[in-house]
Amino acid sequence: MLSERISSVFKKITYAALRAGRNPEEIKVVAVTKSQGIDKIKEAAQLGLRIFGENRVQEAKNKIEALKDFIAQWQINIEWHMIGHLQSNKVKDALRLFEVIHSVDSEKLAVLINKEAEKIGKIQRVLIQVKLSEEESKFGIEPENTEKLVELCFRLPNIKVEGLMTIPPYFENPENARPYFRKLRQIKDSLFQKGYALTELSMGMSNDFEVAIEEGATMVRIGTALFGQRIN
Ligand SMILES: *Cc1c(COP(=O)(O)O)cnc(C)c1O
Repeated sequence: MLSERISSVFKKITYAALRAGRNPEEIKVVAVTKSQGIDKIKEAAQLGLRIFGENRVQEAKNKIEALKDFIAQWQINIEWHMIGHLQSNKVKDALRLFEVIHSVDSEKLAVLINKEAEKIGKIQRVLIQVKLSEEESKFGIEPENTEKLVELCFRLPNIKVEGLMTIPPYFENPENARPYFRKLRQIKDSLFQKGYALTELSMGMSNDFEVAIEEGATMVRIGTALFGQRIN
């Protein structure tokens, strides 16, 4: 049952935070609803979840439209986060749909987001996706180019860069993901010392969020552990 899964995830988050001497309340759960139906999202919202993550612009657009009346009726504030790779031709739509874009990974994309955000008078909250593994399927900017991209984003007036995001390779044993999370935190800390006030670390998924929290995650993106296996 969803309510039980939610309690179980929040319990694990709390314990992981306490193990690391952190305040559990500083960790935001992005409930990943990709490939989940509208009814699941409604149920999750009724059970108190407020941040939803999608990885495809068109899918998110359809869902947000379909949930309009529900959200108005319940008078709740839902935040939608874009967690997947963002194509240039989807930027315009993405800006209208998403509170936070987790996946900025090139100067070209940052400049485009800034340009389109300016047109609609929005300051777009973004995270920079860093590629810490050599897996070909993973997007992200290389660690050595991250500072340059962050520096650019700080100069773009319609972008607010709040932190970094990463997706480590999948490991059966989540301990194996720890070095990747630690590395992302180190990159953030070193940028912070250089004057870039980054606060968010979006890292950790169903299989490894507890380790990510021990290493400093402030946003965990959780799908399967909340909603069960996706049927794709
Ligand atoms: C699907 C997805 C998740 C959630 O994965 P689970 O293992 O189901 O928790 C998190 N982040 C991104 C970028 C995803 O695409």
